[in-house]
Amino acid sequence: MELKDQFDPDLRKIIKKQKKAAVIPVGSIEQHGAHLPLSTDSDIVTDIAKRTADRCGFLLLPTISYGVSFEHAPLFNLSVRGSTLQKMITEICISLLKNDIRTVFIINGHYSNQKFLQHIPVIVKRQTRGKTRVFVFSYWHFMSQRFDHAGLVETSLMRAISNKVNMKKAKRGLVTDALPKHKVALLNKLASESFTRATKSGVWGDPRRATRREGNRIRTEIVRNLVKVCQTCLTEKNRKLHH
Ligand SMILES: [Zn+2]
Repeated sequence: MELKDQFDPDLRKIIKKQKKAAVIPVGSIEQHGAHLPLSTDSDIVTDIAKRTADRCGFLLLPTISYGVSFEHAPLFNLSVRGSTLQKMITEICISLLKNDIRTVFIINGHYSNQKFLQHIPVIVKRQTRGKTRVFVFSYWHFMSQRFDHAGLVETSLMRAISNKVNMKKAKRGLVTDALPKHKVALLNKLASESFTRATKSGVWGDPRRATRREGNRIRTEIVRNLVKVCQTCLTEKNRKLHH
């Protein structure tokens, strides 16, 4: 169920009756080549989080659409500092606890958010004296393909969930398949500082063969794996592990 569709006091009654876990999708606003909209990461993560929340009976919170995308300059990005993102989500978790919601799943859709989000479970645990448990997952860890940026994976996912894709403008970007591992590692490092210096065009991968069908397939795989892991997090055995 989506938080934005709920009414008070009904929602409080639901929370009282069944222990609800909350899902916070986190995306970005940044260039995704000429063929995908700036909201790509936010759109994909919203869709995946919604499907996961529906399957698990979690409460879906509004997507945090601003992320840490400074590396995409001088191409368009609207960014907040990592510490700002951390603080905002930490405060939302504390506010959720005051409303008796003590389990939070943060689902991330943008690569550079990850290194800041990953500290939130420990920060929240400390600030709530262990009352709230937070789990952080980036969606691309739940699929078999290698993650890209506006390449085959993201473009296929967007074709499956949105009508905003302009395939006529899709162009081949940086393709690393034939490169040795150490070269790819170097490019990865460079991309985290300056995405355009690493990729030239701002696209990592080749989006030209992206299809809606492939997007549906990847999405199904991600949601299936994510649901499994979220449910495991809720079991007693794991509860002990994370405390
Ligand atoms: Zn993206």
